[in-house]
Amino acid sequence: MKMSSNSVRDCRRHYAGELEKIYGSNEANALIMILLEHYFNINRVKIAMNPDLRLSESELLTLHFAVKELLKNKPVQYVIGEAEFCDMKFFVDENVLIPRPETEELVNQLVSWSVSQFGVNPHPSFRPKRSEVEKSPANISILDIGTGSGCIAVSVAKLLKNSAVTAVDISEKALEVAKKNAQANGVDVRFILDDILNPQNSELIENQYDIIVSNPPYVCESEKREMRANVLEHEPATALFVSDNDPLIFYRKILEFAQKALRPNGEVWFEINERFGKEMRALCLEKGLQNVEIINDFRGRDRVVRVQS
Ligand code: GLN
Repeated sequence: MKMSSNSVRDCRRHYAGELEKIYGSNEANALIMILLEHYFNINRVKIAMNPDLRLSESELLTLHFAVKELLKNKPVQYVIGEAEFCDMKFFVDENVLIPRPETEELVNQLVSWSVSQFGVNPHPSFRPKRSEVEKSPANISILDIGTGSGCIAVSVAKLLKNSAVTAVDISEKALEVAKKNAQANGVDVRFILDDILNPQNSELIENQYDIIVSNPPYVCESEKREMRANVLEHEPATALFVSDNDPLIFYRKILEFAQKALRPNGEVWFEINERFGKEMRALCLEKGLQNVEIINDFRGRDRVVRVQS
């Protein structure tokens, strides 16, 4: 198919037509708009106000290569190299998971609870209830296990002003991305390279934390057949999958770690596979932790677990 001209309108129609083959019309149009906005700062309003707006040859080339990547099922966040999370921008590449809306919910719940529990100061952009802000500020220490892009660690560090955040990941390449994200969002996070299934780093092991938070790998290998190609072919498998034989392995190890590392009145917060709410509760009870709450996500599915020490 040839483009009739290099007006934004024609380019949009042309490339949306290409993308429709695998994405369907709504998503194809949304993807084109993301590319136009990201690369050229062109949005719907600009197009409506300048119907004859044109792309230069080099702009067309940029669009052409981005669409080519999308046609290979590459998620748009990897194509443009960034994702939004908690109103912040995060660099992402194929070494880290693309942050999900469920994880934003985890962060919001966690921040809200920390403000009421510890009286830490929230960032001005976070609006907790009045009674929550009136408490006096305290310093709290937070550990994020399996930080990936750093989306949890960085947003928590940003939203809770009096927090000291440490983040650990097994992947050196993920930590590089997470460090960039901490810097770009203007927060200090202490990053540690280690495997939580067999932790060796003395700083990680010897520290005490008020909050341990984790969104570990939790998708069962057997769930692969229900997943889309863009996830399967591009997102890092080590960040996603666990064996069907022991799907809660990370939660069990983290709870064991927490028994030594958590301060009194501290809590562990997890994102979980919606299929395992009951099993997670049973696991916490088995570890002697009575105080367990399971919180539903926006789809009404078991998604967040908070456990008191
Ligand atoms: N929620 C992610 C997904 O469904 C999985 C995240 C994870 O394994 N921790 O793709």
